[in-house]
Amino acid sequence: MKMQVSEMLAQQKMTKEMLVELLGLTGQTDRQTVLDHALAVKAASVGRKVYLRGLIELSNVCGKNCFYCGIRAGNKQVHRYTLAEKEVIDAAVFAWKHQFGSLVIQTGEQSGEGFALLIEQLLIRIHEHTRHELTITLSCGEQPAEVYQRWKKAGADRYLLRIETTNRQLYYTIHPNDAHHAYENRLEALHHLRNSGFQVGTGVMIGLPGQTLENLADDLLFFQKMDVDMVGMGPYIEHADTPLYSLADTLRPPKERFELSLLMIALLRINMPYINIASSTALETLDPLGRQKGLLAGANVVMPNLTPVSDRVNYQLYNNKPNLDKDASTSTASLNTVISEIGETIGFAEPGNSLHFKRRTAK
Ligand code: SF4
Repeated sequence: MKMQVSEMLAQQKMTKEMLVELLGLTGQTDRQTVLDHALAVKAASVGRKVYLRGLIELSNVCGKNCFYCGIRAGNKQVHRYTLAEKEVIDAAVFAWKHQFGSLVIQTGEQSGEGFALLIEQLLIRIHEHTRHELTITLSCGEQPAEVYQRWKKAGADRYLLRIETTNRQLYYTIHPNDAHHAYENRLEALHHLRNSGFQVGTGVMIGLPGQTLENLADDLLFFQKMDVDMVGMGPYIEHADTPLYSLADTLRPPKERFELSLLMIALLRINMPYINIASSTALETLDPLGRQKGLLAGANVVMPNLTPVSDRVNYQLYNNKPNLDKDASTSTASLNTVISEIGETIGFAEPGNSLHFKRRTAK
């Protein structure tokens, strides 16, 4: 006999079949039951608190050619930039003075000693200028284990390395099939990060061309198997200057990708109650209330953009990224208002570390 939605939600461990069924729900009442359950799980585990990560897009220089990405090396339309140290320190001090508690430093994937040193020194300088009161997440791609260890030692706390899809075949639909983009390297890098002592985050895109609900259920099971501490995932949004754009007419409609993303967040929260989950900017691109809806589906982290406005336009992984023209102080003030309106509280000046990480490392 077929299980009711509420029965599936009450399971200790959801099977792949259950996840597929829940992701495929089309009735508004059933979908809302899942979202409401996720919000209750969030309230009981990590609480209704939202952590801020001031996002600094340090550099859009990238050596890779992922087929979906607007700043891929092959896109010659992009003006390449790397922020000056002063710009990074100014953004970090802004975050510190506004009690963000935490930063994310994101770059395209670069390699070599020069890049390793740049990040290492920035970490040290940021901590000096902010009295070691900010926690820092890095998102700088695949690196050798020793580079990860250096960055950890220099003061990085968390690392986000999105796998984008855990299905190997689909992975090579959205990446070149060569040694430079090998699926196995991605997995290995995630293991190195874990062994280096980071709070480890990964994530996927939702609604990729050819992606099935089974693929997405496998992604959710992968996060559990990898025992990750945080996840950043959101809808796939096509970028016109990329090879994957040729499949744009095969995509699910944006509304469907958005709703599927909310269900993914909700099911992740239900199955991994103590991890940090970001309410991604991509959600806001597809729905003006996307960020709030992500929080109400179980997410507990938002990332206000602190990149100088003049450079932000050059860091577009996908089309129509929101808030390209708002300066940090404007978007931060409005964020505080919208977050309290939905009954959540910002954890000002709190590091916002993953409770899942604390629990797994306390064992
Ligand atoms: S997704 Fe990341 S690694 Fe891939 S091309 Fe874009 S910035 Fe580079």
